[in-house]
Amino acid sequence: MQPFAPLGRDVRLRGRKCGHSPGDTPANDCQNDATWHIAWDTAMENGYACDPHMTVARAQYVFVAAHRIGPDCGMPGALWDFDNNRCTCPDEQPCLTTAAEEPIPA
Ligand SMILES: [Zn+2]
Ligand SMILES: [Zn+2]
Repeated sequence: MQPFAPLGRDVRLRGRKCGHSPGDTPANDCQNDATWHIAWDTAMENGYACDPHMTVARAQYVFVAAHRIGPDCGMPGALWDFDNNRCTCPDEQPCLTTAAEEPIPA
């Protein structure tokens, strides 16, 4: 089995839903809201996964980083902050206002 996850369609078009889709067809799309944000490679191909499918991804695929979905994940202008392993906006304008920050699991 090749270690790279099939990236398939651009999951960003589906909002922050889990990107798991066997056969990469809409009929098989996982309908769960994503709980994890995954960086597949250093070019910042990224995707989303629900808890069960994050477990699958950890078992089967290589990826650069992953973190719990936070308020800035997938927001326009948000950048992946590798030092803190979260998504964040680089300037003073928040991507999203006053969403509570979740602690980042170690
Ligand atoms: Zn899923
Ligand atoms: Zn993120």
